[in-house]
Amino acid sequence: MKQVVRARHAIVGGEAVHDFAFVVEEDRIARAGEGAAIVAANPDLPCMDYGEDRLLAPGAVNGHSHCYQILLRGWADDWGFDKWRDDALYRIIPQLEPEELYWVALAAFVEMLGNGITTVVEFFYVNGAGTARLEKLVEAAIDCGIRLVVARAWMDASYAPPIFREDIASARRDTIALAEELRSAGILVCPAPHSLHAASPEMTRAAVDLARELGVPVHMHVAEARYEVEQVKARTGLTPIAYLDSLGVLGPHFVAVHAIWQTEEEKDLMGERGAALIHNPVTNQYLGDGIADLVGLRRRGVRIGLGTDCDLRPCIYDEMRAATFLQKTATLDGATLSARDAWLMGTRDCARAVGVEAGDFAAGCYADWCVIDRTHPSFHPWSHPVNQLVYVSDPGIVVETFVGARKVSDRRRAQRYGNERIGKELRKVAERLRLPLDHANAPA
Ligand SMILES: [Zn+2]
Repeated sequence: MKQVVRARHAIVGGEAVHDFAFVVEEDRIARAGEGAAIVAANPDLPCMDYGEDRLLAPGAVNGHSHCYQILLRGWADDWGFDKWRDDALYRIIPQLEPEELYWVALAAFVEMLGNGITTVVEFFYVNGAGTARLEKLVEAAIDCGIRLVVARAWMDASYAPPIFREDIASARRDTIALAEELRSAGILVCPAPHSLHAASPEMTRAAVDLARELGVPVHMHVAEARYEVEQVKARTGLTPIAYLDSLGVLGPHFVAVHAIWQTEEEKDLMGERGAALIHNPVTNQYLGDGIADLVGLRRRGVRIGLGTDCDLRPCIYDEMRAATFLQKTATLDGATLSARDAWLMGTRDCARAVGVEAGDFAAGCYADWCVIDRTHPSFHPWSHPVNQLVYVSDPGIVVETFVGARKVSDRRRAQRYGNERIGKELRKVAERLRLPLDHANAPA
């Protein structure tokens, strides 16, 4: 299938462009450029033509998510990290049956599509009891049409719930099998040693070796909380990034998630080795993790993408806003990280960091885009569209989302999912897991 997509208003490479078009072949962009010229050069192709009331933006790329954490929303808030992890996360998630996981994942993915996210990296760690749960998550992504990258976690620490744990041989075997199985569906599978506290050095090395064999990135949580630095130092004599470098795992394929607590020397190391960072500023605030030094890391050439991590409200525009605000606050300089910088981190740069050809309207990229309503009350005609989306708008401004040139979300569809089947299934899951459903105080 070949077609032209044309828009009066678009965001291309982080810039506002008037009269823009691209040619789609199958699910990718073949050519892009000035709208009138592209249309004139392709007179026989059907043309999807967006008018003055619409703005075309590349789909946002979510570099790090745990979709099942939507079950913790609204009741496990305002806790310290240890209590949140032990009394909510590690208590609830291991109980999820595969079919329940399907509905939870579908709900989160549909919400992401509605918020303009077209690619998601799911860091999935319920792998200790076989492959059924992860298969259900993949099924949910395929059913709703979101572009999925599986960061398939490896975990062997004795403190972790048994359903998260496995040995190196089975993690390797299952990751290879999954990568082969999902290749034809275009789903990238990346080994993901969970963290330095949940994966042994042997397991971390083995996961990185496999990533090299498969030619894919490796994802790992690093230095999210300050205590991790002390823990790693006590065990190894080195700080986390320096220790990872001593294991020989730091390199252009390495995607560090969080990496908040770093010395200046470690930041140099990340830059020298060409490593990438996925920054999750909303979660970092929500859990009280800290503020990553994006400005310092960017100066050293570290590639940076954004993620929604605990999926409180999975919206990359929120993450862009939080990323700039935190840097402005930390450096006491309002000019330190611009809306455009943040926009690229949540689109093109994130796609590059996680190894997916997406996040921009350029030849070779997947044809993934979302349509913004320029007549929405929160859309101001005097605003630059990038600043508008990063600083002002609510995700309700996204009216349609396309993945691989196929419409996968619109307002009606989002409402239908929200109100009907998914809502009912989620309520059943909440009841079975005994999540708090009624927060009203008992009458005196
Ligand atoms: Zn995470």
